[in-house]
Amino acid sequence: MTGFAKDFPILDKEVYGKQLVYLDNAATTQKPNSVIDTISDFYKTDYSNIHRGVHYLSERSSEKYEEARKKVSDFIGARNPGEVTFTAGTTDAINQVARSLEPSLKGNEVLVTGVEHHSNIVPWQMAGAKLRAIQMDEDCNLLLDSIDITKETKLIAISHVSNVLGSVNDIKKITEIAKDHDVPVLVDAAQSIQHLPLDVKNIGCDFLAASGHKMYADTGVGMLYTSDRFSDLMPAKGGGGMVDKVSLEKTTYQEPPLRYEAGTPHIAGAISMGAAIDYMQKRGLDNIEKHESDVYSYARDRLLEMDNVTVYGNTDRMCGSISFNLDQVHHYDAGLIMDKMGVAVRTGHHCAQPLMRSFAIEGTVRASFALYNTKEDVDRLIEGIEKVEMMYT
Ligand code: PLP
Repeated sequence: MTGFAKDFPILDKEVYGKQLVYLDNAATTQKPNSVIDTISDFYKTDYSNIHRGVHYLSERSSEKYEEARKKVSDFIGARNPGEVTFTAGTTDAINQVARSLEPSLKGNEVLVTGVEHHSNIVPWQMAGAKLRAIQMDEDCNLLLDSIDITKETKLIAISHVSNVLGSVNDIKKITEIAKDHDVPVLVDAAQSIQHLPLDVKNIGCDFLAASGHKMYADTGVGMLYTSDRFSDLMPAKGGGGMVDKVSLEKTTYQEPPLRYEAGTPHIAGAISMGAAIDYMQKRGLDNIEKHESDVYSYARDRLLEMDNVTVYGNTDRMCGSISFNLDQVHHYDAGLIMDKMGVAVRTGHHCAQPLMRSFAIEGTVRASFALYNTKEDVDRLIEGIEKVEMMYT
């Protein structure tokens, strides 16, 4: 293996006697040695609970946890680490915001898009909000000039990059429009943090959610950026660690970020996010972006050349994921055959049923890329598709 792939031990694996080509990165990314070693070393040398002990290991763990918070905070351009809370992932982060904002959302409206992941739909509905989608053209480009913010609109919640189409939304433009109406904006960055530079100050969003496991870190951990402007939200969860004074009559809360972190967090997971950021920075964010962009464009061009393949969305602007279907072949069957050829893709609705409904389809085949994928991986994907076509014609 060459390039970035040699840093990821699992990519050496053969499946069904063939070298693995892993193209399911929007679901989760593989882990580099440095992240695996960081987690393992942490448990071997520093592990303890954080923030609560005076002893050596507790202090070491607390320091490492807070160092990781600082790395995440710098990585997304937050004003200070207090704006970054560790969560269990993007879903958990969005649910926390929904719970905290519930009093204002109930009976009111959240503006979303028609391409959202269920994680950016269901929590708002559970908080009692009605959802309205920003209009899109037939290629799923948002028609930003048509954004209509009313008195009922209490939040705009929008993905940065679609997990199905790989389309990139102009979130800065959206926050600018939202500011004119004093409506907060939440960005679901689950599919962008690993591909695109993020600067929350420049974007001007109020909340930003992402998952560790999609950016080369552990599962069960993620982050929520909450702008200082919302430093006194009602915490979504209560318990140890987030309180200042507790009595049976009344409880007061800590300042952020601890205010929003009840209970023992996924300490090793948070530290793994710091290690994943170290890894990406060491390998060079510009190098990664350039390499990824070359591989995506190559994949897109090869897929667009194929006669019996439909690629969904605006094919000019793609990042991370590409969704397609083969004429006359069920996406699930296509995925199964490709798997036997060692090519791991995902099939189905990708937790975006409203989007599937708008295309009048049940699902797609999705190839999604990470920094370790290469043009050779794309060639293997295309060979897989050709094999499927051969079997069905
Ligand atoms: N949002 C988007 C755009 C996603 O792609 C995903 C996962 O695929 C999520 C949210 C949910 O992420 P998680 O399952 O890590 O909480």
